[in-house]
Amino acid sequence: MIQPIFLVGARGCGKTTIGRALAETLGYYFADTDNHLLTSTGKSVAEIVSAEGWPGFRARESLALQQVTAASTVVATGGGMILSESNRQFMAERGTVIWLNVPADILATRLDASPENDQRPTLTGKSMVDEIVDVLAAREELYHQAAHHIIDATRSPDSVVESIIHVLERSNVSAAL
Ligand code: ADP
Ligand code: MG
Repeated sequence: MIQPIFLVGARGCGKTTIGRALAETLGYYFADTDNHLLTSTGKSVAEIVSAEGWPGFRARESLALQQVTAASTVVATGGGMILSESNRQFMAERGTVIWLNVPADILATRLDASPENDQRPTLTGKSMVDEIVDVLAAREELYHQAAHHIIDATRSPDSVVESIIHVLERSNVSAAL
């Protein structure tokens, strides 16, 4: 069985973009927990949060993670997936967890340019850049805890995919020794 690969990281770090490209390169399936939530509930993140609150959203997100996890699958996760210890443990036990690390200023630039930006609810009501800085500072330690590997995801999607494949190959080699 070929274990799943989980991509974690902040909103806008490229989990969906890189995940798709990585899956294609490896010949894996691709799953996205945010997209799974959208198709299984028929609601956007914003709608789920406004109807059920963040705890309701988080519960559905954990379920989505379990539902999409399968062999030979790249799983792009929601930015807050790592908040729950049981999600972190689940991913670490089931597969390889990769953190796409991108500093706050670059995240803000990407989200500003992203057309679906207004569908992403802010967590605090602050300006987007301030919120990204705060959220990243609060979560950085959890991304560290969750991830087997940290990837610099500031470069082009192609080179990020290449770095991930390199890291996976290296860890397979060391596991085989
Ligand atoms: P996530 O799924 O982590 O929230 P996305 O894959 O949706 O992130 O990417 C957010 C935005 O940033 C999109 O507009 C995407 O095209 C862009 N993007 C993603 N990865 C890169 C990259 N390596 N370089 C430049 N832009 C990127
Ligand atoms: Mg995404």
